[in-house]
Amino acid sequence: MNRVGVIGFPVEHSLSPIMHDAAFDALGMSDWLYDAMAIPPDILRLGLREPRDHGYIGINVTVPHKEAVMAFVRPDEKARAIGAVNTIDFRSNIGTNTDADGFIEDLRANGIAPEGQSALVLGAGGAARAAVYGLARVGAEVAIVNRTKTRADRLAAHLKASAGISGVKVMTLDEAADRDMSLIVNCTSVGLHPEIKQSPWIHGVPFPEGVTVYDMVYRPANTALMQQCVAHGGRAIGGLGMLARQGAIAFELWTGVQPPVDVMISALRDALEEVKDS
Ligand code: NAP
Repeated sequence: MNRVGVIGFPVEHSLSPIMHDAAFDALGMSDWLYDAMAIPPDILRLGLREPRDHGYIGINVTVPHKEAVMAFVRPDEKARAIGAVNTIDFRSNIGTNTDADGFIEDLRANGIAPEGQSALVLGAGGAARAAVYGLARVGAEVAIVNRTKTRADRLAAHLKASAGISGVKVMTLDEAADRDMSLIVNCTSVGLHPEIKQSPWIHGVPFPEGVTVYDMVYRPANTALMQQCVAHGGRAIGGLGMLARQGAIAFELWTGVQPPVDVMISALRDALEEVKDS
């Protein structure tokens, strides 16, 4: 049996087993197993040793371990720039981060070329770091707005020091609204279930017309921010595709096989529908 999985705490809510199992099923890879392991933060080092010593090929890493796990693996350039590891290959002990590539790939899959976009990233946490890194790497112009401005300043400084990315601007939402922009990426948790009526676009700030919104929040599928965007003549994309694509990159890394992303997306959609109905 080839074993892979995800560590987190808690981890029961993770959708990763569902999408990886769907891909294994679709490809007839019945000798692969993906499981979820709850590892409390105070025993992370020991918790990592368990799957490694038991022959796991690799694991995904989710909240709250993504940053702390960097001390126990060899982080690659992406992980160092983003400041977090979400995928480990135990064969090399390299830790990487697949969020930036998953996000950029999903933009492309939706027919959006990120190159040359004038992008506004809302948020300055882990998801924002991946978005800013991914966008800046392909040549988009990036501005960040975050509730806590100092955190956005730290994000920009970190990307400059760790990946040589300069030119990322930090501003207020009012300042951002006065500029031309083509793409808004929500990397805050505002609008996430159950607070589905909330939007990170503060009331009173004029919403730009005809832009594209990419909302990393995928529950609900159509967030308040996405609805605002469409009401202002724009196009809105939810974050489910990114979730599947960042998982698909890890899948290929471990197995050497390209998974069917459409199967992973529909498995995720079905799972979220079930949660909604329950
Ligand atoms: P995080 O590190 O905890 O960052 C949360 C961000 O949201 C911070 O910028 C925070 O601002 C902001 N925020 C939280 N509550 C706010 C409020 N009431 N008003 C304004 N800003 C607020 O979380 P993360 O890991 O970056 O994840 C952020 C979101 O992205 C989550 O919903 C997560 O599910 C989603 N995500 C999706 C994918 C995907 O594959 N689609 C991947 C990763 C993450 P402060 O700095 O001021 O606290």
